[in-house]
Amino acid sequence: MTILEQTTGLILAGGQGSRMGGIDKGLLPLRGLALAAHAMRRLSPQVARVLISANRNLERYAALGAPVAPDELGGFAGPLAGLETALRRCDSAYLVCVPCDSPFLPADLVERLVGALQAEQADLAVAVTFEVDAQGQTYRQRHPVFCLLKTSLLPRLSAYLRQGGRRMDGWYDGLVVAEVPFDDGAAFRNINTPQQLQRFDAPADVNSLADVIDATPGYDPEALSVAQARRIIDQCITPLEASEKVALRAALGRVLAADIVSPISVPAHDNSAMDGYALRGADLRADAITTLRVAGTVYAGRAAGLAVGPGHCARIMTGALMPDGCDSVVPQESVASADEHSISLAPGTIAPGANRRLIGEDLMRGGLALKKGKLLRPADLGLLASLGIGEVAVRRRPRVAFFSTGDELRSIGETLDGGCVYDSNRYTLYGMLSRLGCDLLDMGTVRDDPASLEAALRGACENADVVITSGGVSAGAADHTRPIMAALGEVAFWRVAMRPGRPLAFGQIASQGRGAYLFGLPGNPVAVMVSFYFFARPALLRLMGADPALTTPPLMRARAQAPIRKKPGRTEYQRGILSQDADGRQQVRLTGAQGSGILRSMADANCMVLLHDTQGDIAAGDMVEVLLFEGLL
Ligand code: AMP
Ligand code: MG
Repeated sequence: MTILEQTTGLILAGGQGSRMGGIDKGLLPLRGLALAAHAMRRLSPQVARVLISANRNLERYAALGAPVAPDELGGFAGPLAGLETALRRCDSAYLVCVPCDSPFLPADLVERLVGALQAEQADLAVAVTFEVDAQGQTYRQRHPVFCLLKTSLLPRLSAYLRQGGRRMDGWYDGLVVAEVPFDDGAAFRNINTPQQLQRFDAPADVNSLADVIDATPGYDPEALSVAQARRIIDQCITPLEASEKVALRAALGRVLAADIVSPISVPAHDNSAMDGYALRGADLRADAITTLRVAGTVYAGRAAGLAVGPGHCARIMTGALMPDGCDSVVPQESVASADEHSISLAPGTIAPGANRRLIGEDLMRGGLALKKGKLLRPADLGLLASLGIGEVAVRRRPRVAFFSTGDELRSIGETLDGGCVYDSNRYTLYGMLSRLGCDLLDMGTVRDDPASLEAALRGACENADVVITSGGVSAGAADHTRPIMAALGEVAFWRVAMRPGRPLAFGQIASQGRGAYLFGLPGNPVAVMVSFYFFARPALLRLMGADPALTTPPLMRARAQAPIRKKPGRTEYQRGILSQDADGRQQVRLTGAQGSGILRSMADANCMVLLHDTQGDIAAGDMVEVLLFEGLL
């Protein structure tokens, strides 16, 4: 049996809650779930079984699904009393305890405590983190309520308690204690005041990775379908709230942070859509020639002033205000005859009301002109300008740190030693990220060595909202990225049933209390692009607060010009060239060899052919779905 299988987990929920005004803290709801239930969710996968130490509301604790043990000592004697009772009750060799108000405890807590206990042949292992004090000095912070101990220590603990000892780590004298450093101090945050509870209850934190995973049916981190993986990413990502005001031109490609309400009507007045004659619709004769006297001329950009009575008309230029009394315009070229003084029209030349632009027909004052979440394109800049708006609030750009991994990678300008390749992924990533309008932090190439990788990941995570790596996520001997990512946070999945791009990691990592979303993309250049477009791009757009309905590219259907081989059970993204056949129908052919390392297949393509999970071989002439690379905007 492993130590893990011989370990009981203890949730300490027996306190008086004095800093919370006597409330039973473990039962306080956080995001709709009792604090102790959060601790339970995190702890139970790490141990053989769980016990809860509680002194009040015993049935409610029992309802969380674990045996509940009230202190034998009585009188709310503190966490050690709970620990003592648990040691008496449990029959395993080891016990690990955590406080009930630590909903963020590390997913590898027990594994790491056990590892240290064994390695140091210790009696007890306790978590420590490194914190920075007000003077900027780093110090070690011990977390004695996060500890693993041999249950044989019971007599020693009881003796300490009988002498009146109460301090959680006051009884360590003579014990071999292993201190286990954890990087993420935030994981040990506990909740001591109602204000802290409120802060953590903020909606920004709602979608923890663990919650999302719990809600994913058939979750298998080694084999997710594309749809499952996309859903997990989507649900985990919380849009960045921060916004800034920028000048109109600088807003191109940015996401609107607030609705734009029209401050004016566009057009501000009824005006003419044509060069011609403004007239009164009621004067038009249905059965005979209409002749009207010309009362004057109105030009665009000049104030009105001309009133046109019955039987009259006015020469008018496109955009000029409609003179009082007129409701229709007959284009100059439709007039049967005209001289300086009068015009005549054949019956039915125009309908009453024709060629008049109405006030507010483009935008009405007080109406919604552009919705929050709109990714601003050229038309939107023009529309905002038409409203006289010179500055808009847009969402902050996401900051994305990226680097390539691999000992074989050389940068441009370096000599290409035997077996080496130039690093191309950083350039495709640069291109794709720039197009999305991200703020970039290019961290270069990193060697396949755990220490360098960890340092790079930490640096990236401390300085960016999103970290994107390429290479090192498959299962090769030099693929160190996976375990390091797992050590720095939670990785939701490693593999997706797709081609190219099967090894693909997504998760959240943290360092020095700063967190980032992580995409561990494959190393092969085509796989990098495909996994970026189908996973990282929508995630970044969501982070930017963009409305997905406006940024999800439309799919087209085209006839396959030749058979395409395809295995059911995975999604394939083949590179294609879309064209029109002799009858003007869309057809598509593949760009030659489709190996995931053949970047030319991407450069030659103008579209991607999407072959879904359930599809098998495609015959020539079958319809397939394609996604065009280039659009108009
Ligand atoms: P990996 O996922 O690290 O095993 O890499 C898979 C393949 O992609 C290997 O042939 C690598 O040499 C290649 N590769 C990885 N990273 C890059 C890069 N940045 N530029 C070009 N090729 C790469
Ligand atoms: Mg590699």
